[in-house]
Amino acid sequence: MGIILIVIRGVAQLGRALPWGGRGRGFESRRSDHFGSPAFTGNPRKGLFFCLWVRRFTPMIRTLPLVCSNCDNKFVPAEELYYRDNFMSNSIRDVHFICPDCIKRWKDKWRIKTAVFSEKDYVMTVSITLEDGTIYKNLDCTPLEETVVTSEEIPEEAQRRLFNIYTEWDSERKKNSLKDCTFKDEFMRTTFSCETYGGEKFNDIAFRFNMKGQIETETPVPEYVLKQIIDAYRLYEMQNKE
Ligand SMILES: [Zn+2]
Repeated sequence: MGIILIVIRGVAQLGRALPWGGRGRGFESRRSDHFGSPAFTGNPRKGLFFCLWVRRFTPMIRTLPLVCSNCDNKFVPAEELYYRDNFMSNSIRDVHFICPDCIKRWKDKWRIKTAVFSEKDYVMTVSITLEDGTIYKNLDCTPLEETVVTSEEIPEEAQRRLFNIYTEWDSERKKNSLKDCTFKDEFMRTTFSCETYGGEKFNDIAFRFNMKGQIETETPVPEYVLKQIIDAYRLYEMQNKE
């Protein structure tokens, strides 16, 4: 704002000075007092350009207040400066700083109470409940090394906790997955043998499909195994038809 004011005033005074021609002594000295510059001698035009030149090219030590982009308050930085990284910041003026108070509130908020992962059609989602009762439902998420990427901004510590919950869930579901499964067709009797990643084994279990299309086994088999047996048997039948 300062620069613009000075330029306008300079131009306005020049405009008045031009018709006067050489008769401008008092005017000149007023200006040189005003700018206090030794470079300004006689010609008001010179004064204007000198002034612009000083403003544009002379380095000056100045200060800028730090303003939080989140709460708009001025703040004193702690040991580190937090900012929101949108991967577009190429200079300091693009950087959106966040004050320590907002950071503290954010970290306090992100105390994860529970996180429930699920995967459907290769899309993984997580529903997170925080200690303060906030619920984030079905966030799309991608587990990476040591983190789970979601659409929410999650502090590092909460990230770690989320990743631990994910790892537990992942090994739990893998544990119940079938590592291998074989079928045997005998006279009036079809059996399966299978093993899960968790080491559970089921050998030569006879099964059939009842009138409703539900699977029945001769000895009890957990639901999560049966589901996979049904899928595997469909594949097996298709292969036999070919
Ligand atoms: Zn703030």
